Amino acid sequence: VEESYKRIDEVDGEVKAFLTLNKEQAMEQASQYDEERGSDDATLFGLPIGVKDNIVTKGLRTTAGSQILDNFNDPLYNATVVNKLNDAKSITIGKLNMDEFAMGSSNENSSYEGSRNPWNTDYVPGGSSGGSAAAVAAGEVPYSLGSDTGGSIRQPAAYCGVVGLKPTYGRVSRFGLIAFASSLDQIGPITRNVEDNAFLLETIAGHDHMDSTSANLEVPKYSESLTGDVKGMKIGVPKEYLGEGVAPEVKEAVQAALKKYEELGATWEEVSLPHSKYALSTYYLISSSEASANLARFDGVRYGKRAEDAETMLDMFKRSRAEGFGDEVKRRIMLGTFALSSGYYDAYYKKAQQVRTLIKNDFEKVFADYDVIIGPTTPTPAFKVGDKVDDPMTMYANDILTIPVNLAGVPGISVPCGFSEAGLPIGLQIIGKHFDEATVYRAAHAFE
Ligand code: GLN
Repeated sequence: VEESYKRIDEVDGEVKAFLTLNKEQAMEQASQYDEERGSDDATLFGLPIGVKDNIVTKGLRTTAGSQILDNFNDPLYNATVVNKLNDAKSITIGKLNMDEFAMGSSNENSSYEGSRNPWNTDYVPGGSSGGSAAAVAAGEVPYSLGSDTGGSIRQPAAYCGVVGLKPTYGRVSRFGLIAFASSLDQIGPITRNVEDNAFLLETIAGHDHMDSTSANLEVPKYSESLTGDVKGMKIGVPKEYLGEGVAPEVKEAVQAALKKYEELGATWEEVSLPHSKYALSTYYLISSSEASANLARFDGVRYGKRAEDAETMLDMFKRSRAEGFGDEVKRRIMLGTFALSSGYYDAYYKKAQQVRTLIKNDFEKVFADYDVIIGPTTPTPAFKVGDKVDDPMTMYANDILTIPVNLAGVPGISVPCGFSEAGLPIGLQIIGKHFDEATVYRAAHAFE
């Protein structure tokens, strides 16, 4: 814990991964655990961890990267995942930077100064869990939690050269995760290697009566599935994931990875996920619709910022939201409200839900014959700060390979698979069947 804070002192001025530190409490906890050392076999005993700032921590400021929650200093409860981390006796070092309400792919939508890529601070760390990936990559913490609605764990993990898993929808409780798009959001682990990742998922996964969408299923010992053996494993490689728009250096790294799988005794074949081309539009309709409903609760009354000197209640609502939300969040609320409005609901929201089913069916068809699906995590390595900030459409295109996984609800991991010419990491994405994180981990670990 001490080393963690020392490293943060050294590098976080540049990396900007942390929004809030928990130093006093963490140091106290560490010295208490120090006395119990050796007498306790809790899985994460005394290990420092960073938590994305949209995960509620009792008594520790939780902003979700937004001005509207800038003064949310004293939440009254812990997210279920945080209680589970505490039970495993890990120590929360602080809260990690993110795009506002998890809407973004570069950390540039954080309403604080965005986090930077530790490999080269002229580049973005990705988003929205950019702080979570950067903190692990910079050696500030060995473990962190992120959340992934359309790629927000896997994309920053790829950009920062670390391991990030989005679990199956329902594997991890969302209780205490500040909601963006409830049918897509999942919390997941970001770590330096696959083994740590498996341990962390074991700790946070499982049924929770506080989240009705959490699955009542046994949580396997993922760490025991890391056998190194992928002989006979059948890999599907979607042709849509290596097509136009994917950088040649990314394709090469993925092809080299597939070669390694062959050497390890796995086989691969080209497959097709034909509805992938509709994933981006489907995702932005569904996620923005859900966000517009979820973000209605930020009204200046119950939490966070309240505009001053309002004349009427309506005026107070309007001004609190106008002042508290950033541009991207407003854009999504407007798009979502429009898509849900009477007269347009059938044409947009309902149609998007129908296409979502087609996308899910694509995955199920492939998984009838293959154990995992492999491709790149992102079409390109990290881009420079400022490069895409004025063009939401290019920014959205970053997530074209991760979004279908959320729409289908299946698990996906990003593991490092090489470097670009500019010296930036490239991520390999391994996608599994519903609730089959064990096979995803086995494949990732064998490759690592
Ligand atoms: N970049 C995507 C978006 O802006 C995904 C974000 C996420 O997964 N939270 O919506």
